[in-house]
Amino acid sequence: MPTYESLLYINAEWCSAADRGTKDVVNPATEEVVGSVAQATGEDIQRAIQAAKIGFDHWRKVSPQARKTILKKIAALITERRESLALMMTLEQGKPLEEARLEIDRTVDVFEWCAEEASRTYGRLLPQRKPGSREMIIREPIGPVAGFSPWNFPAAMTARKIAAALGAGCSMIIKPSEEAPAICVGLVQACHDAGVPPGVLNLLFGPSNEISTALIESPVIKKISLTGSVPVGRKLSSLAGQHLKPVTMELGGHAPVIIFDDADIEKAAAMTAAFKFRNAGQVCLGVSRIFVQKKIYSQFLACFLGHVSRLTVGNGLEPDVTMGPMVNQRRVDAMNDIVADAQARGANIRYGGKRWGDKGYFWQPTVITDITDDALLMTDEPFGPVVPVVCFDDFDEVIERANQLPLGLAGYAFTRSLARATATEDGLDVGWIGINNFSPALAEAPFGGMKDSGIGYEGGPEGFAAYTQIKFISQDSL
Ligand code: NAD
Repeated sequence: MPTYESLLYINAEWCSAADRGTKDVVNPATEEVVGSVAQATGEDIQRAIQAAKIGFDHWRKVSPQARKTILKKIAALITERRESLALMMTLEQGKPLEEARLEIDRTVDVFEWCAEEASRTYGRLLPQRKPGSREMIIREPIGPVAGFSPWNFPAAMTARKIAAALGAGCSMIIKPSEEAPAICVGLVQACHDAGVPPGVLNLLFGPSNEISTALIESPVIKKISLTGSVPVGRKLSSLAGQHLKPVTMELGGHAPVIIFDDADIEKAAAMTAAFKFRNAGQVCLGVSRIFVQKKIYSQFLACFLGHVSRLTVGNGLEPDVTMGPMVNQRRVDAMNDIVADAQARGANIRYGGKRWGDKGYFWQPTVITDITDDALLMTDEPFGPVVPVVCFDDFDEVIERANQLPLGLAGYAFTRSLARATATEDGLDVGWIGINNFSPALAEAPFGGMKDSGIGYEGGPEGFAAYTQIKFISQDSL
C-alpha cells in the first residue's frame, strides 16, 4: 500500500514544518500508519499569511475569464487523477472506494460550477436620479480567506472553499483536518499544476487552535469559513466577531426523516437505509431521527431492518463493502456513550449495538427503538452508524418533535400527498429539504443551516457571493 507524506504548501512551494516535525496518519480500517502530516509552527503560519497577502494583490487583478480557465483546468486534472485520489481518501478516511470515487466526481463538479460562476459576478446599475449621473453597485473579492475543512468529505468540502474563494478572486489559506490530509494535498497539487499563481492558495496542517487563532487575529485575513462541529463553530465565530470579520459556518445537524402512512414503504425503507449508513453515518446532512406514522410503523421497521441486515461492513478497499469504519477512536467512544445511554433508558437495540471486529474503528450498523425524545441519541448529533426509529400519531406532533432541537440543517419526508409534502416543507425549520429523496449537496444550490446549524451558505450563487464585497459608486459627469 502507498504511504503519503502531507507537507505544507506556502507561496507555491511544498515544505516541511519549520521545527515541529510530523504527526502519523492512520488508516481507520486497519489502524496502520499510512502517512505523516506536517505540523505548522507560528513561523509557518506567518509565512502563509504574507504569501496570501501578496497572492491576493496579484489574483484580484486577474480577469474572471482567466480565473475560470484555471479552475476548469483544475477540474480536468482532478478527473484525470480520479482513481489515485479516491484510493488516498479510502486509505485515510475509510469510506468505501466507490463512495470516494463519487466524492471526487462531486469535487470536479464544484470546480466546474465555480469556474462558470466566476464570470457571472455581476454588479447592478440603478435607475438614474438625474441626467449624466451613474449610480452603480460593483462586487469585489473580499480578500485573503482562512478556510477550515473537515475529514468526513475531505475532498468535496475542501473544494467548496477553495473553488469559490479562488473563483471570486480571493486568496486562501486552507487548513484541512489531520485525519485525511493527503487528499487535500492532491487537490492543492492539482491547483498548482493548473497554474494557480504563488501565494493565491496556501495549505497548513497542524494544531487547529493555534492556526485558527493566528489566522483570525491577523489583519490580513478578511473572512473565515469553517465546516465542522457546533462547539468549534461557536469558538471561531466569537473570535471572528471580536475582529468584526464575516464568517461562513457549516456546522452540525440532526436531520429527521418523516415517513407518513401514505408513503411507498419499500422505497422509503431502502433509501433511508442506504442514506443513513453512507460514510458510516458521518454526514452532516445524514438522517439521524426516523419518525414513522403509527399505522405503518411495524411494516416500515421490518423492511428497514431487512435492508440494514444486508449492509456489508469492512475495509473500504474490498469490493463488496458498503460501510467502512468511522474516522477515529473518538467516534467509536461517542457511539459507545450513545448506545449505553439508550440502554440505560430502557430502549431496545433492534440491530447491532456494538463495536465490529477487533481491528479498526468499526461500529455495527445499529437500529434502536422504544427510545424517548430526551435520550442522547435523540438530542445530540450521533455522527455515526446509529439510528433511532420512533413512532408518531399526527402531522402537528411530528413537526413539533422534528423541530424541537436547536439544530436545523436538513429534514426529509416520504409521502404521496402533495398537501402533506408542501405542509412539511413549510413546517420544518431546516435549510435543506428532501421530499421522497435524499439530495446530496449540489454545487449550484445554497447549502446552509438554521438555528445552531450554521451561519451563511456554501454553494450556489449565495455561497459564491460570500467571498465578495460590495461597493456603491455614485458618479457625475463634470
Ligand atoms: P471536533 O469538534 O474536534 O472537530 C470538528 C472539525 O473542526 C475537525 O475537522 C477539526 O479538525 C476542526 N477543528 C477543531 N478545533 C478547531 C479549531 N480550534 N480551529 C479550527 N478547526 C478546528 O470534532 P471531531 O471529533 O473531529 O468531529 C466530530 C463532530 O464534528 C461531529 O459530531 C460533527 O458534529 C462535527 N463535524 C461536522 C461536519 C460537517 O460536515 N458539518 C464535519 C466533520 C465533523
